[in-house]
Amino acid sequence: MENMTINRGGPEGLWLSGAAQRGEGKAGSEGAVTPPAAPACILDIRGLTSHYGRIQALHGIDLQVGQGQLVALVGANGAGKTTLLRAVSGVQPVSAGQILFRGADIVRMSPDKRVRGGICQVPEGRQVFGPMSVEDNLRLGAFTRPRKGVAEDIDRMYTLFPDLKIKRLLQAGVLSGGQQQILAMARALMGRPALLLLDEPSMGLSPRLVAEIFRIIEGLKQQGITIFLVEQNAHAALSIADVGYVIETGTISLSGRGPDLLDNEQVKSAYLGM
Ligand code: ATP
Repeated sequence: MENMTINRGGPEGLWLSGAAQRGEGKAGSEGAVTPPAAPACILDIRGLTSHYGRIQALHGIDLQVGQGQLVALVGANGAGKTTLLRAVSGVQPVSAGQILFRGADIVRMSPDKRVRGGICQVPEGRQVFGPMSVEDNLRLGAFTRPRKGVAEDIDRMYTLFPDLKIKRLLQAGVLSGGQQQILAMARALMGRPALLLLDEPSMGLSPRLVAEIFRIIEGLKQQGITIFLVEQNAHAALSIADVGYVIETGTISLSGRGPDLLDNEQVKSAYLGM
């Protein structure tokens, strides 16, 4: 339970919070835990709100992703996970707050510029280009990269994911759900992301494939790729996450080390069916 706090109505005590980093709140007070040697922050979301018309979907989100970390955001259906991820990639309007990427506020930056800056999203539901070949899907993922080096990067993907090499000439649409998820991730990796955003990679997959996808995600993390993962499958996500956040109706209710959150009674009863 060490290094975990419940966030009830204020950022104090929420470790790695933007407020704590700015020296606000009650650093050093009871309940505030400073993790040892926190990595440099690559993504720092501060007080973020977002609306769909009059409906407020996000209510002042504070969340940080450190360089090289795997950070998981878990929560129920409709809690606001996809909205937050889409705000980071720039396709969801933000009403207030900041999204600092490597220290610069990108809230007004176009999605295209964010991709060029190194933020690559694998959208919910995979969304590979079905009529195109596996290899052409990969090539598309490199649209921000200089042409020189793309062939080499495709080879790198084939080494990482040998199944894709075997199926490289097939239309992406004929791949199984799991293979399409792998292709969608490989396509995003072709952009050499500084920050990889994964939206519900386990969605619609069998338990066996979910396990495989999460092994792959863990492998990417071990290669030093910074990952922000949103998932309904709290167990799978928190098991591999350095840091986990729980979102409820657009508010972060809990945060801490991923494995510590797995032991939390509130998380167990609400998200793990225990
Ligand atoms: P899911 O896992 O089902 O995608 P989620 O946690 O990603 O859930 P969001 O899709 O971000 O949740 O939705 C957050 C809130 O915003 C929900 O109340 C949802 O009904 C609302 N919402 C999402 N998309 C729209 C939309 N296009 N128009 C209006 N409201 C929306």
